[in-house]
Amino acid sequence: MPQYTENAGVVLENNLTINRSDRSLTDRSITDRRTFLAVTAFQWLWPPYWFRNHVDIGGIRFRRIRNGPEGRHYLWLHGDERTAHDVLIEHMKDTNGRASLVQSSERNVPILGGKIDPNRMFSRMGADKSLRSLNPSLSAEQIKHALDMLDHDRENFLKRLLPRRGEVLVALHNNGPNYSMNDETAISDDVAANDKEHPDEFMLCTQRPDFQVLAGGPFNVLLQNKAPKEDDGSLSRLCATRGVRYVNIEAAQGNVDGQRRMLKWLESVL
Ligand SMILES: [Zn+2]
Repeated sequence: MPQYTENAGVVLENNLTINRSDRSLTDRSITDRRTFLAVTAFQWLWPPYWFRNHVDIGGIRFRRIRNGPEGRHYLWLHGDERTAHDVLIEHMKDTNGRASLVQSSERNVPILGGKIDPNRMFSRMGADKSLRSLNPSLSAEQIKHALDMLDHDRENFLKRLLPRRGEVLVALHNNGPNYSMNDETAISDDVAANDKEHPDEFMLCTQRPDFQVLAGGPFNVLLQNKAPKEDDGSLSRLCATRGVRYVNIEAAQGNVDGQRRMLKWLESVL
Protein backbone atom coordinates (compact mmCIF):
# COMPACT_ATOMS: atom_id res chain seq x y z
CA MET A 1 0.00 0.00 0.00
CA PRO A 2 1.49 3.39 -0.95
CA GLN A 3 2.39 5.62 1.95
CA TYR A 4 0.26 8.70 2.12
CA THR A 5 2.13 11.97 2.53
CA GLU A 6 0.68 15.30 3.48
CA ASN A 7 2.61 17.24 0.85
CA ALA A 8 0.96 15.42 -2.04
CA GLY A 9 -1.02 18.43 -3.24
CA VAL A 10 -4.67 19.12 -2.56
CA VAL A 11 -5.87 17.09 0.40
CA LEU A 12 -9.38 16.20 1.44
CA GLU A 13 -10.25 17.07 5.02
CA ASN A 14 -11.36 13.52 5.98
CA ASN A 15 -8.20 11.97 4.52
CA LEU A 16 -6.09 14.20 6.71
CA THR A 17 -7.99 13.04 9.78
CA ILE A 18 -7.47 9.36 8.91
CA ASN A 19 -3.84 10.00 8.12
CA ARG A 20 -3.18 11.69 11.43
CA SER A 21 -4.86 8.95 13.43
CA ASP A 22 -3.16 5.81 12.05
CA ARG A 23 -0.54 7.05 9.51
CA SER A 24 -1.98 4.85 6.77
CA LEU A 25 -4.93 5.04 4.47
CA THR A 26 -7.81 2.70 3.94
CA ASP A 27 -8.43 1.50 0.36
CA ARG A 28 -11.58 3.54 0.34
CA SER A 29 -9.88 6.85 1.15
CA ILE A 30 -7.22 6.25 -1.52
CA THR A 31 -9.96 5.66 -4.05
CA ASP A 32 -11.71 8.83 -2.87
CA ARG A 33 -8.52 10.78 -3.18
CA ARG A 34 -7.70 9.45 -6.65
CA THR A 35 -11.21 10.23 -7.80
CA PHE A 36 -10.95 13.69 -6.32
CA LEU A 37 -7.62 14.42 -8.04
CA ALA A 38 -8.84 12.96 -11.34
CA VAL A 39 -11.97 15.10 -11.24
CA THR A 40 -9.94 18.20 -10.31
CA ALA A 41 -7.52 17.62 -13.19
CA PHE A 42 -10.28 16.73 -15.61
CA GLN A 43 -12.21 19.92 -14.93
CA TRP A 44 -9.62 21.89 -16.89
CA LEU A 45 -10.33 19.82 -19.98
CA TRP A 46 -14.06 19.71 -19.57
CA PRO A 47 -15.81 21.78 -22.26
CA PRO A 48 -18.01 23.81 -19.88
CA TYR A 49 -14.85 25.18 -18.32
CA TRP A 50 -13.08 25.95 -21.59
CA PHE A 51 -16.15 27.41 -23.21
CA ARG A 52 -17.65 28.99 -20.12
CA ASN A 53 -19.76 31.72 -21.59
CA HIS A 54 -20.01 34.13 -18.70
CA VAL A 55 -17.93 36.02 -16.18
CA ASP A 56 -19.15 37.52 -12.88
CA ILE A 57 -18.14 40.35 -10.59
CA GLY A 58 -19.95 40.89 -7.29
CA GLY A 59 -22.81 38.71 -8.58
CA ILE A 60 -23.15 40.89 -11.72
CA ARG A 61 -23.06 38.58 -14.71
CA PHE A 62 -21.58 39.28 -18.13
CA ARG A 63 -22.28 37.01 -21.11
CA ARG A 64 -19.20 36.18 -23.18
CA ILE A 65 -19.01 35.76 -26.94
CA ARG A 66 -15.83 34.12 -28.23
CA ASN A 67 -14.99 34.21 -31.89
CA GLY A 68 -11.83 32.73 -33.36
CA PRO A 69 -8.42 33.43 -31.86
CA GLU A 70 -7.88 35.76 -28.92
CA GLY A 71 -7.46 39.35 -30.08
CA ARG A 72 -9.43 42.52 -29.67
CA HIS A 73 -11.96 42.65 -26.82
CA TYR A 74 -15.37 44.36 -26.80
CA LEU A 75 -17.62 45.42 -23.95
CA TRP A 76 -21.23 46.45 -23.50
CA LEU A 77 -21.72 47.76 -19.97
CA HIS A 78 -25.07 49.55 -19.65
CA GLY A 79 -28.15 47.35 -20.04
CA ASP A 80 -30.46 50.15 -21.23
CA GLU A 81 -28.18 51.16 -24.13
CA ARG A 82 -29.85 48.88 -26.65
CA THR A 83 -28.40 50.46 -29.80
CA ALA A 84 -24.85 49.72 -28.61
CA HIS A 85 -25.97 46.16 -27.77
CA ASP A 86 -27.43 45.53 -31.22
CA VAL A 87 -24.43 47.04 -33.03
CA LEU A 88 -22.03 44.87 -31.02
CA ILE A 89 -24.02 41.64 -31.50
CA GLU A 90 -24.14 42.27 -35.24
CA HIS A 91 -20.42 43.09 -35.30
CA MET A 92 -19.42 39.88 -33.48
CA LYS A 93 -21.01 37.73 -36.20
CA ASP A 94 -18.01 38.31 -38.44
CA THR A 95 -15.31 39.59 -36.09
CA ASN A 96 -12.58 37.68 -34.26
CA GLY A 97 -12.23 38.45 -30.59
CA ARG A 98 -14.07 38.37 -27.29
CA ALA A 99 -17.16 40.33 -26.28
CA SER A 100 -18.53 40.75 -22.75
CA LEU A 101 -22.15 41.90 -22.42
CA VAL A 102 -23.83 42.79 -19.16
CA GLN A 103 -26.89 40.64 -18.38
CA SER A 104 -29.28 43.45 -17.55
CA SER A 105 -31.94 45.56 -19.22
CA GLU A 106 -31.25 48.51 -16.92
CA ARG A 107 -28.34 50.90 -16.56
CA ASN A 108 -27.78 50.21 -12.85
CA VAL A 109 -27.44 46.58 -11.78
CA PRO A 110 -28.42 44.82 -8.52
CA ILE A 111 -25.79 44.06 -5.90
CA LEU A 112 -26.63 42.75 -2.39
CA GLY A 113 -30.04 44.36 -2.23
CA GLY A 114 -28.81 47.65 -3.67
CA LYS A 115 -27.85 48.95 -7.12
CA ILE A 116 -24.64 50.14 -8.71
CA ASP A 117 -23.64 51.81 -11.97
CA PRO A 118 -21.42 49.13 -13.55
CA ASN A 119 -19.16 51.83 -14.97
CA ARG A 120 -18.30 52.89 -11.43
CA MET A 121 -17.27 49.48 -10.07
CA PHE A 122 -13.69 49.49 -11.39
CA SER A 123 -12.31 50.95 -8.16
CA ARG A 124 -13.39 50.72 -4.53
CA MET A 125 -13.58 54.50 -4.28
CA GLY A 126 -15.81 54.86 -7.34
CA ALA A 127 -18.04 51.94 -6.31
CA ASP A 128 -18.41 53.41 -2.82
CA LYS A 129 -19.64 56.73 -4.25
CA SER A 130 -22.03 55.03 -6.67
CA LEU A 131 -23.49 52.74 -3.97
CA ARG A 132 -24.00 55.63 -1.53
CA SER A 133 -25.70 57.89 -4.05
CA LEU A 134 -27.99 55.19 -5.50
CA ASN A 135 -28.90 53.46 -2.20
CA PRO A 136 -29.44 55.94 0.62
CA SER A 137 -31.15 53.23 2.68
CA LEU A 138 -28.18 50.81 2.72
CA SER A 139 -26.22 50.68 5.98
CA ALA A 140 -22.46 51.32 6.13
CA GLU A 141 -22.01 47.60 6.81
CA GLN A 142 -24.04 46.57 3.75
CA ILE A 143 -22.04 48.94 1.57
CA LYS A 144 -18.77 47.59 2.98
CA HIS A 145 -19.94 44.04 2.20
CA ALA A 146 -20.74 44.98 -1.43
CA LEU A 147 -17.38 46.76 -1.81
CA ASP A 148 -15.53 43.73 -0.39
CA MET A 149 -17.30 41.47 -2.88
CA LEU A 150 -16.30 43.69 -5.79
CA ASP A 151 -12.70 43.89 -4.53
CA HIS A 152 -12.60 40.10 -4.24
CA ASP A 153 -13.74 39.50 -7.82
CA ARG A 154 -12.29 42.53 -9.64
CA GLU A 155 -8.88 41.24 -10.75
CA ASN A 156 -10.23 37.92 -12.02
CA PHE A 157 -12.96 39.79 -13.85
CA LEU A 158 -10.40 42.13 -15.42
CA LYS A 159 -8.32 39.15 -16.56
CA ARG A 160 -11.23 38.10 -18.75
CA LEU A 161 -12.37 41.58 -19.71
CA LEU A 162 -9.08 43.22 -20.66
CA PRO A 163 -7.32 42.11 -23.86
CA ARG A 164 -3.75 40.91 -24.05
CA ARG A 165 -1.16 43.64 -23.70
CA GLY A 166 -1.04 45.77 -26.84
CA GLU A 167 -4.54 44.80 -28.01
CA VAL A 168 -7.50 47.18 -27.93
CA LEU A 169 -10.54 47.10 -25.66
CA VAL A 170 -13.56 48.63 -27.42
CA ALA A 171 -16.54 49.70 -25.30
CA LEU A 172 -19.85 50.75 -26.83
CA HIS A 173 -22.13 53.27 -25.12
CA ASN A 174 -25.19 55.31 -26.01
CA ASN A 175 -26.07 58.74 -24.77
CA GLY A 176 -29.28 60.70 -24.30
CA PRO A 177 -29.95 64.43 -24.68
CA ASN A 178 -28.09 65.28 -21.44
CA TYR A 179 -24.66 64.06 -22.47
CA SER A 180 -22.32 64.63 -25.43
CA MET A 181 -18.62 65.13 -26.17
CA ASN A 182 -19.02 68.72 -24.93
CA ASP A 183 -19.24 67.33 -21.37
CA GLU A 184 -15.85 65.66 -21.79
CA THR A 185 -13.76 68.25 -23.67
CA ALA A 186 -12.75 70.27 -20.58
CA ILE A 187 -11.33 67.16 -18.86
CA SER A 188 -9.68 65.72 -21.99
CA ASP A 189 -5.96 65.86 -22.81
CA ASP A 190 -6.60 66.38 -26.52
CA VAL A 191 -9.66 66.92 -28.70
CA ALA A 192 -10.29 66.44 -32.42
CA ALA A 193 -13.69 68.02 -33.10
CA ASN A 194 -13.96 66.67 -36.66
CA ASP A 195 -17.77 66.53 -36.69
CA LYS A 196 -19.00 69.45 -34.58
CA GLU A 197 -22.51 69.05 -35.99
CA HIS A 198 -22.85 65.70 -34.22
CA PRO A 199 -21.44 66.06 -30.69
CA ASP A 200 -23.35 62.89 -29.63
CA GLU A 201 -21.09 60.81 -31.88
CA PHE A 202 -17.54 60.53 -30.63
CA MET A 203 -14.75 58.19 -29.68
CA LEU A 204 -12.84 58.48 -26.41
CA CYS A 205 -9.45 56.80 -26.18
CA THR A 206 -6.68 56.43 -23.58
CA GLN A 207 -3.50 56.21 -25.71
CA ARG A 208 -2.02 59.04 -27.75
CA PRO A 209 -0.93 56.88 -30.75
CA ASP A 210 -4.54 55.65 -31.08
CA PHE A 211 -5.80 59.22 -30.79
CA GLN A 212 -3.49 60.33 -33.60
CA VAL A 213 -4.78 57.60 -35.90
CA LEU A 214 -8.46 58.09 -35.01
CA ALA A 215 -8.22 61.90 -35.20
CA GLY A 216 -7.22 61.56 -38.85
CA GLY A 217 -10.74 60.45 -39.75
CA PRO A 218 -14.11 62.17 -40.04
CA PHE A 219 -15.30 61.54 -36.45
CA ASN A 220 -14.95 63.39 -33.15
CA VAL A 221 -12.18 61.97 -30.97
CA LEU A 222 -11.13 62.70 -27.39
CA LEU A 223 -7.95 61.64 -25.62
CA GLN A 224 -7.95 61.03 -21.86
CA ASN A 225 -4.59 59.45 -21.15
CA LYS A 226 -3.84 61.04 -17.79
CA ALA A 227 -5.88 59.61 -14.97
CA PRO A 228 -8.05 62.39 -13.53
CA LYS A 229 -7.36 63.31 -9.90
CA GLU A 230 -10.74 62.04 -8.82
CA ASP A 231 -11.06 58.24 -9.13
CA ASP A 232 -14.63 57.82 -10.33
CA GLY A 233 -14.32 54.03 -10.75
CA SER A 234 -14.91 54.14 -14.50
CA LEU A 235 -13.27 51.70 -16.89
CA SER A 236 -11.68 54.50 -18.93
CA ARG A 237 -9.87 55.76 -15.84
CA LEU A 238 -8.65 52.25 -14.98
CA CYS A 239 -7.39 51.77 -18.56
CA ALA A 240 -5.63 55.17 -18.52
CA THR A 241 -3.96 54.25 -15.22
CA ARG A 242 -2.86 50.80 -16.40
CA GLY A 243 -1.78 51.83 -19.89
CA VAL A 244 -4.47 49.73 -21.59
CA ARG A 245 -5.51 50.69 -25.15
CA TYR A 246 -9.18 51.53 -24.69
CA VAL A 247 -11.64 53.15 -27.09
CA ASN A 248 -15.19 54.05 -26.11
CA ILE A 249 -17.51 54.53 -29.07
CA GLU A 250 -20.43 56.78 -28.12
CA ALA A 251 -23.53 57.48 -30.18
CA ALA A 252 -27.02 58.72 -29.41
CA GLN A 253 -29.49 56.02 -28.38
CA GLY A 254 -31.18 54.85 -31.61
CA ASN A 255 -28.36 55.98 -33.92
CA VAL A 256 -27.45 52.49 -35.14
CA ASP A 257 -25.93 53.73 -38.36
CA GLY A 258 -23.71 56.34 -36.70
CA GLN A 259 -22.37 53.88 -34.14
CA ARG A 260 -21.85 51.17 -36.73
CA ARG A 261 -19.90 53.55 -39.00
CA MET A 262 -17.50 54.53 -36.20
CA LEU A 263 -16.94 50.90 -35.22
CA LYS A 264 -16.29 49.76 -38.81
CA TRP A 265 -13.94 52.68 -39.33
CA LEU A 266 -12.05 51.94 -36.11
CA GLU A 267 -11.61 48.33 -37.26
CA SER A 268 -10.18 49.50 -40.56
CA VAL A 269 -7.55 51.84 -39.09
CA LEU A 270 -6.52 50.53 -35.65
ZN1 LIG B 1 -23.14 53.77 -21.07
